Amino acid sequence: EAAIEISGLEKTYAGGKVALHGIDLTIPRGSIFGLLGPNGAGKSTTINILAGLVNKTGGKARIWGFDIDEHGRNAKRSIGVVPQEIIFDAFFTPFETLELQAGLFGIAKAQRRTMELLRAVRLEDKAHAYSRTLSGGMKRRLLVAKALVHNPPVLVLDEPTAGVDIELRALLWEYVRELNAGGTTVVLTTHYLEEAEALCDRIAIINHGRVVANADTRSLLADA
Ligand code: ADP
Ligand code: ADP
Repeated sequence: EAAIEISGLEKTYAGGKVALHGIDLTIPRGSIFGLLGPNGAGKSTTINILAGLVNKTGGKARIWGFDIDEHGRNAKRSIGVVPQEIIFDAFFTPFETLELQAGLFGIAKAQRRTMELLRAVRLEDKAHAYSRTLSGGMKRRLLVAKALVHNPPVLVLDEPTAGVDIELRALLWEYVRELNAGGTTVVLTTHYLEEAEALCDRIAIINHGRVVANADTRSLLADA
Protein backbone atom coordinates (compact mmCIF):
# COMPACT_ATOMS: atom_id res chain seq x y z
CA GLU A 1 0.00 0.00 0.00
CA ALA A 2 1.23 3.49 -0.92
CA ALA A 3 1.50 6.43 1.49
CA ILE A 4 -0.51 8.54 -0.94
CA GLU A 5 -2.42 7.37 -4.00
CA ILE A 6 -3.94 10.01 -6.25
CA SER A 7 -5.88 9.20 -9.38
CA GLY A 8 -7.50 11.51 -11.88
CA LEU A 9 -7.43 14.38 -9.41
CA GLU A 10 -9.14 17.48 -10.78
CA LYS A 11 -9.66 20.97 -9.45
CA THR A 12 -11.52 23.80 -11.08
CA TYR A 13 -11.74 26.85 -8.81
CA ALA A 14 -14.89 28.91 -8.58
CA GLY A 15 -14.47 31.38 -11.40
CA GLY A 16 -13.39 28.66 -13.81
CA LYS A 17 -9.62 28.41 -13.34
CA VAL A 18 -8.61 24.78 -13.94
CA ALA A 19 -5.72 24.13 -11.54
CA LEU A 20 -5.51 20.32 -11.87
CA HIS A 21 -6.31 18.39 -15.05
CA GLY A 22 -6.48 14.85 -13.71
CA ILE A 23 -3.34 14.10 -11.74
CA ASP A 24 -2.15 10.53 -11.10
CA LEU A 25 0.48 10.09 -8.43
CA THR A 26 1.68 7.28 -6.19
CA ILE A 27 3.90 8.24 -3.29
CA PRO A 28 5.60 5.19 -1.76
CA ARG A 29 5.74 4.69 1.99
CA GLY A 30 9.08 5.62 3.50
CA SER A 31 10.13 7.99 0.74
CA ILE A 32 11.09 11.63 0.64
CA PHE A 33 9.03 12.66 -2.35
CA GLY A 34 9.42 15.97 -4.16
CA LEU A 35 6.63 17.72 -6.03
CA LEU A 36 8.52 20.04 -8.29
CA GLY A 37 7.13 22.67 -10.62
CA PRO A 38 6.99 26.37 -11.42
CA ASN A 39 4.71 28.83 -9.65
CA GLY A 40 1.10 28.24 -10.55
CA ALA A 41 1.68 24.60 -11.55
CA GLY A 42 -0.83 23.20 -9.04
CA LYS A 43 1.43 22.01 -6.21
CA SER A 44 -0.34 23.85 -3.39
CA THR A 45 -3.74 22.90 -4.75
CA THR A 46 -2.76 19.22 -4.65
CA ILE A 47 -1.47 19.52 -1.09
CA ASN A 48 -4.43 21.52 0.11
CA ILE A 49 -6.80 18.87 -1.22
CA LEU A 50 -4.87 16.21 0.72
CA ALA A 51 -4.96 18.42 3.84
CA GLY A 52 -8.73 18.77 3.53
CA LEU A 53 -8.46 22.53 3.03
CA VAL A 54 -9.63 22.60 -0.60
CA ASN A 55 -12.37 20.48 -2.16
CA LYS A 56 -11.44 18.58 -5.29
CA THR A 57 -13.83 18.69 -8.22
CA GLY A 58 -12.96 15.23 -9.52
CA GLY A 59 -10.87 12.12 -9.01
CA LYS A 60 -9.78 10.14 -5.99
CA ALA A 61 -7.17 10.36 -3.28
CA ARG A 62 -6.15 7.96 -0.55
CA ILE A 63 -3.86 8.75 2.37
CA TRP A 64 -2.29 5.77 4.13
CA GLY A 65 -5.02 3.66 2.53
CA PHE A 66 -7.90 5.91 3.62
CA ASP A 67 -10.08 7.41 0.90
CA ILE A 68 -10.41 11.15 1.65
CA ASP A 69 -14.13 11.07 0.79
CA GLU A 70 -15.16 7.87 2.53
CA HIS A 71 -12.74 7.90 5.46
CA GLY A 72 -11.91 11.59 5.74
CA ARG A 73 -11.31 11.49 9.46
CA ASN A 74 -8.77 8.68 9.28
CA ALA A 75 -7.21 10.23 6.19
CA LYS A 76 -6.76 13.51 8.04
CA ARG A 77 -5.22 11.78 11.03
CA SER A 78 -2.66 10.16 8.75
CA ILE A 79 -1.20 13.40 7.41
CA GLY A 80 0.37 16.53 8.86
CA VAL A 81 0.69 19.59 6.69
CA VAL A 82 3.11 22.48 7.07
CA PRO A 83 1.53 25.34 5.15
CA GLN A 84 3.46 27.80 3.05
CA GLU A 85 2.19 30.89 4.81
CA ILE A 86 2.85 31.57 8.45
CA ILE A 87 -0.49 31.92 10.18
CA PHE A 88 -0.71 32.00 13.96
CA ASP A 89 -2.66 33.44 16.74
CA ALA A 90 -0.09 35.89 18.09
CA PHE A 91 -1.43 35.68 21.63
CA PHE A 92 -0.64 32.02 22.21
CA THR A 93 2.74 30.67 23.24
CA PRO A 94 4.31 27.81 21.27
CA PHE A 95 3.40 25.48 24.13
CA GLU A 96 -0.24 26.58 24.02
CA THR A 97 -0.33 26.43 20.21
CA LEU A 98 0.71 22.78 20.30
CA GLU A 99 -1.62 21.91 23.18
CA LEU A 100 -4.57 23.42 21.31
CA GLN A 101 -3.65 21.49 18.18
CA ALA A 102 -3.41 18.29 20.24
CA GLY A 103 -6.88 19.04 21.60
CA LEU A 104 -8.27 19.29 18.05
CA PHE A 105 -7.07 15.75 17.50
CA GLY A 106 -8.50 14.55 20.77
CA ILE A 107 -5.12 13.94 22.36
CA ALA A 108 -5.39 14.33 26.12
CA LYS A 109 -2.45 15.06 28.44
CA ALA A 110 -0.32 16.38 25.64
CA GLN A 111 2.28 18.17 27.77
CA ARG A 112 4.97 15.57 27.30
CA ARG A 113 4.43 15.27 23.57
CA THR A 114 4.39 19.06 23.31
CA MET A 115 7.73 19.53 25.08
CA GLU A 116 9.27 16.66 23.12
CA LEU A 117 8.27 18.36 19.85
CA LEU A 118 9.48 21.77 20.98
CA ARG A 119 12.85 20.19 21.78
CA ALA A 120 12.93 18.43 18.42
CA VAL A 121 12.53 21.72 16.54
CA ARG A 122 14.82 23.50 19.05
CA LEU A 123 12.20 25.81 20.46
CA GLU A 124 12.22 24.61 24.06
CA ASP A 125 13.62 27.97 25.21
CA LYS A 126 10.63 29.70 23.62
CA ALA A 127 7.99 27.33 24.94
CA HIS A 128 6.29 30.04 26.95
CA ALA A 129 7.06 33.11 24.86
CA TYR A 130 4.26 34.75 22.87
CA SER A 131 4.25 33.63 19.26
CA ARG A 132 4.38 37.24 18.10
CA THR A 133 7.86 37.53 19.65
CA LEU A 134 9.26 34.66 17.57
CA SER A 135 11.45 35.21 14.52
CA GLY A 136 10.27 34.04 11.11
CA GLY A 137 12.47 30.98 11.35
CA MET A 138 11.13 30.07 14.78
CA LYS A 139 7.57 30.38 13.51
CA ARG A 140 8.34 28.02 10.67
CA ARG A 141 9.79 25.50 13.09
CA LEU A 142 6.70 25.84 15.26
CA LEU A 143 4.54 25.10 12.21
CA VAL A 144 6.49 21.89 11.66
CA ALA A 145 5.95 20.88 15.28
CA LYS A 146 2.25 21.71 14.95
CA ALA A 147 1.88 19.45 11.93
CA LEU A 148 3.47 16.59 13.87
CA VAL A 149 1.41 16.78 17.08
CA HIS A 150 -0.80 13.81 16.18
CA ASN A 151 2.21 11.78 15.05
CA PRO A 152 1.08 11.31 11.42
CA PRO A 153 2.87 8.76 9.22
CA VAL A 154 2.98 11.32 6.38
CA LEU A 155 4.37 14.85 6.69
CA VAL A 156 3.79 17.31 3.86
CA LEU A 157 5.71 20.57 3.61
CA ASP A 158 4.62 23.24 1.16
CA GLU A 159 7.67 25.19 -0.08
CA PRO A 160 9.46 24.67 3.25
CA THR A 161 12.48 26.80 2.42
CA ALA A 162 11.03 29.60 0.29
CA GLY A 163 12.37 32.86 1.70
CA VAL A 164 14.34 31.05 4.40
CA ASP A 165 18.00 31.80 5.20
CA ILE A 166 20.77 29.26 4.61
CA GLU A 167 21.05 28.31 8.25
CA LEU A 168 17.37 27.52 8.71
CA ARG A 169 17.30 25.71 5.39
CA ALA A 170 20.10 23.44 6.57
CA LEU A 171 18.26 22.82 9.84
CA LEU A 172 14.99 22.00 8.07
CA TRP A 173 16.72 19.63 5.65
CA GLU A 174 18.46 17.88 8.53
CA TYR A 175 15.19 17.56 10.40
CA VAL A 176 13.39 16.18 7.34
CA ARG A 177 16.10 13.54 6.94
CA GLU A 178 15.88 12.66 10.63
CA LEU A 179 12.11 12.28 10.50
CA ASN A 180 12.36 10.15 7.40
CA ALA A 181 15.02 7.95 9.00
CA GLY A 182 12.56 7.49 11.87
CA GLY A 183 9.96 6.14 9.44
CA THR A 184 7.95 9.21 8.42
CA THR A 185 7.07 9.55 4.74
CA VAL A 186 7.87 13.11 3.69
CA VAL A 187 6.35 14.99 0.76
CA LEU A 188 7.56 18.44 -0.09
CA THR A 189 6.76 20.94 -2.80
CA THR A 190 9.47 23.14 -4.16
CA HIS A 191 10.34 25.12 -7.21
CA TYR A 192 14.05 24.63 -6.56
CA LEU A 193 15.46 21.67 -8.47
CA GLU A 194 18.49 21.85 -6.19
CA GLU A 195 16.36 21.27 -3.12
CA ALA A 196 14.52 18.31 -4.62
CA GLU A 197 17.83 16.87 -5.79
CA ALA A 198 19.44 17.18 -2.37
CA LEU A 199 16.57 15.75 -0.35
CA CYS A 200 14.25 13.59 -2.40
CA ASP A 201 14.60 10.01 -3.51
CA ARG A 202 11.75 10.45 -5.97
CA ILE A 203 10.48 13.49 -7.87
CA ALA A 204 7.30 14.27 -9.78
CA ILE A 205 7.23 17.36 -11.95
CA ILE A 206 3.93 19.19 -12.24
CA ASN A 207 3.26 21.80 -14.87
CA HIS A 208 -0.02 23.49 -15.79
CA GLY A 209 -1.95 21.06 -13.59
CA ARG A 210 -0.47 17.92 -15.12
CA VAL A 211 2.23 15.47 -14.03
CA VAL A 212 4.86 15.69 -16.75
CA ALA A 213 7.50 13.44 -15.16
CA ASN A 214 7.72 11.03 -12.26
CA ALA A 215 10.87 9.08 -11.53
CA ASP A 216 13.55 8.37 -9.00
CA THR A 217 15.82 11.38 -8.62
CA ARG A 218 18.90 9.89 -10.22
CA SER A 219 17.26 8.77 -13.43
CA LEU A 220 15.26 11.97 -13.67
CA LEU A 221 18.42 14.06 -13.49
CA ALA A 222 20.25 11.76 -15.89
CA ASP A 223 17.54 12.42 -18.48
CA ALA A 224 17.50 16.18 -17.89
P1 ADP B 1 1.63 26.22 -7.11
O1 ADP B 1 1.48 25.82 -5.69
O2 ADP B 1 2.29 25.18 -7.95
O3 ADP B 1 2.30 27.56 -7.24
P2 ADP B 1 -1.25 26.57 -7.04
O4 ADP B 1 -1.81 25.25 -6.74
O5 ADP B 1 -1.15 27.57 -5.95
O6 ADP B 1 0.17 26.40 -7.75
O7 ADP B 1 -2.09 27.25 -8.20
C1 ADP B 1 -2.47 26.55 -9.40
C2 ADP B 1 -3.35 27.47 -10.24
O8 ADP B 1 -4.59 27.69 -9.58
C3 ADP B 1 -2.75 28.85 -10.48
O9 ADP B 1 -3.11 29.26 -11.77
C4 ADP B 1 -3.41 29.69 -9.42
O10 ADP B 1 -3.48 31.03 -9.85
C5 ADP B 1 -4.79 29.07 -9.32
N1 ADP B 1 -5.38 29.23 -8.00
C6 ADP B 1 -4.83 28.84 -6.81
N2 ADP B 1 -5.67 29.10 -5.79
C7 ADP B 1 -6.77 29.66 -6.33
C8 ADP B 1 -8.01 30.13 -5.80
N3 ADP B 1 -8.27 30.10 -4.50
N4 ADP B 1 -8.92 30.63 -6.68
C9 ADP B 1 -8.66 30.66 -7.99
N5 ADP B 1 -7.54 30.21 -8.56
C10 ADP B 1 -6.59 29.72 -7.75
P1 ADP C 1 -12.30 19.02 12.28
O1 ADP C 1 -12.17 17.89 11.28
O2 ADP C 1 -12.34 18.54 13.69
O3 ADP C 1 -13.38 20.02 11.93
P2 ADP C 1 -10.49 20.86 11.08
O4 ADP C 1 -10.38 20.19 9.77
O5 ADP C 1 -11.33 22.08 11.20
O6 ADP C 1 -10.93 19.80 12.21
O7 ADP C 1 -9.04 21.20 11.58
C1 ADP C 1 -8.85 21.85 12.79
C2 ADP C 1 -7.52 22.56 12.75
O8 ADP C 1 -6.48 21.61 12.61
C3 ADP C 1 -7.37 23.54 11.62
O9 ADP C 1 -6.61 24.65 12.09
C4 ADP C 1 -6.58 22.79 10.58
O10 ADP C 1 -5.78 23.66 9.81
C5 ADP C 1 -5.73 21.89 11.45
N1 ADP C 1 -5.48 20.61 10.82
C6 ADP C 1 -6.37 19.68 10.45
N2 ADP C 1 -5.79 18.61 9.92
C7 ADP C 1 -4.47 18.87 9.96
C8 ADP C 1 -3.33 18.13 9.57
N3 ADP C 1 -3.43 16.93 9.05
N4 ADP C 1 -2.12 18.69 9.75
C9 ADP C 1 -1.99 19.92 10.29
N5 ADP C 1 -3.04 20.67 10.69
C10 ADP C 1 -4.26 20.14 10.52
